Amino acid sequence: MVDARDPASGYPVFSPCGFSIIALDLNRCPMRLQGENRVENVHAGIYIHIPFCVRKCPYCGFYSITDLGQTGAFVDALVQEIRLVRLPKATFDTIYIGGGTPSLIKHVQLRRIIDSVLDRFPFAQDIEVSIEVNPGTVSLDFFKAFLSIGINRINIGIQSFDDQQLQFLGRVHSAREAEEAIRMARAARVENLGFDLMYGLPDQSAKDWIEDLKEATGYEPEHISCYMLTYEEGTPFDEWRKAGRFGPVDEETLRDLFEVTVDFLSHAGYEQYETSNFARGTALRSRHNQKYWCHAPYIGLGPSAHSFFEPKRWWNFRSLSKYIQALQRGELAVEGSEELNRWQLILESVFLGLRTSEGIDMLEFERRYNVDFLGHFGAVVKRLQARGLLSVTSDRCALSMEGMIFADTVAAMFADHTGE
Ligand code: SF4
Repeated sequence: MVDARDPASGYPVFSPCGFSIIALDLNRCPMRLQGENRVENVHAGIYIHIPFCVRKCPYCGFYSITDLGQTGAFVDALVQEIRLVRLPKATFDTIYIGGGTPSLIKHVQLRRIIDSVLDRFPFAQDIEVSIEVNPGTVSLDFFKAFLSIGINRINIGIQSFDDQQLQFLGRVHSAREAEEAIRMARAARVENLGFDLMYGLPDQSAKDWIEDLKEATGYEPEHISCYMLTYEEGTPFDEWRKAGRFGPVDEETLRDLFEVTVDFLSHAGYEQYETSNFARGTALRSRHNQKYWCHAPYIGLGPSAHSFFEPKRWWNFRSLSKYIQALQRGELAVEGSEELNRWQLILESVFLGLRTSEGIDMLEFERRYNVDFLGHFGAVVKRLQARGLLSVTSDRCALSMEGMIFADTVAAMFADHTGE
C-alpha cells in the first residue's frame, strides 16, 4: 500500500527523481544513525509485511496478492516465524506493519501478531507502532481497534485527492473515501496521522499538485510523505510507458514539482527531514523509517521482507505459498542472504546519509569506518559543491535542493570514488 519502499528490498524509496541506488546495485541499503544517535545507542526495528491487496495497482512493485482467503494461513505462518526467528543482540523500539494493505486483515489477527512480537522480542519502554492503511478498507471501529491494540501511528495511502488521478493510478478508493478515512481517524482520536501522496503523474501540472498539497495540509496531518511516481520494472505501468501509452514527465516539470513540494510544505509548517518525508516537528518524524536511512538494524517478517544487522542482510521468499510451506515445515522462510564488505557499507552510508536533510556527520563517519570523509571523497565533494549540488559545513555534508533533484548524478560520482 505505501509506495515508499523499493520493491526488491522493502526499503524506502526516497527519490524525487528515482535515485538509482538500484542502478548501483546498492538497493537494499539502510544507513546508520549519526551524531548523538550513534549506532551503538540505537534500538533495532521490526518490519512486518502483510501481503494482501484488494487489487494490484499497476505502478506497484511491492509483493502482494489479492487472494484474501489466505489471510488465516498467513497469520499462522507469521506467528510461527516470530517464534523461530533468531534473536539478535538488540533491544527494539519500533514495529512497522506495512504491505500490501495491512488494514485488510482482521484486528484480532493484528492483535495476535503484535502480542506475539511483544512477547518474543526485547523492547524498550517507548515503542512506536505504525500501520499503513488504505481508504475504503477502514472504519471508525477499525481505527479505535488499532489504538486499543497499541498502534500509535497510522499512515493513510491517499496518493491524491483527485478522482481522475486516482483512477489513472488504478487505486481502489475515491477521493471521498480518502476524506472519510481521515475524518474517521480523527474521530477515533488518532493523534499521529500520516498521509502518502504521489506526484509526477503524466499531465499533472504544478497547479494540480498544489491543490493536492492544499487539501492534504488542510487536514493538518502530523506527517506527509510525497513520492514521485517511478516506473518499476515488471509493472504494467513500466510496460505501458515503454509501449508509448504515456510519456515520462520531463526533467524541468519534475524539478518544478519537487521545488513546489518543499516550498509549499515548509510554509505549511512541515520540516523536510528526508527527500520525500515531511513532519510537523522532529518528534513526529517516522522513527522506524529513519532506521533505514541510518543503517540501524532491523528484522523483517513476512514474505519478501528484508532484515539487516550489519554487515549481514537476508530476505524472505517473495511468494506467500513458499513462505507458508517453509514455516509449516518448521523452517525459516529465508530465501537469501549476503554479507556487505566495508566499502559497500561505506557507500550505502553515503547515499542514504545524503538523502536526509541533515546529511552526513563526517566525524561520526570517520569514527565508524575509519575513513576521513573529505580526505577520501574531497575531490568529488568539491566538484559537487561547484555545481551547487552539495553543501559542506565544519561537520556535515548535505545535498542542496538541486542536489536532491539530481541525486542520481551525485550517487554515481560518489560511487566512482570507492575502493581501497
Ligand atoms: S494498495 Fe496498490 S500500491 Fe499499495 S501495496 Fe497494494 S498494489 Fe501496491
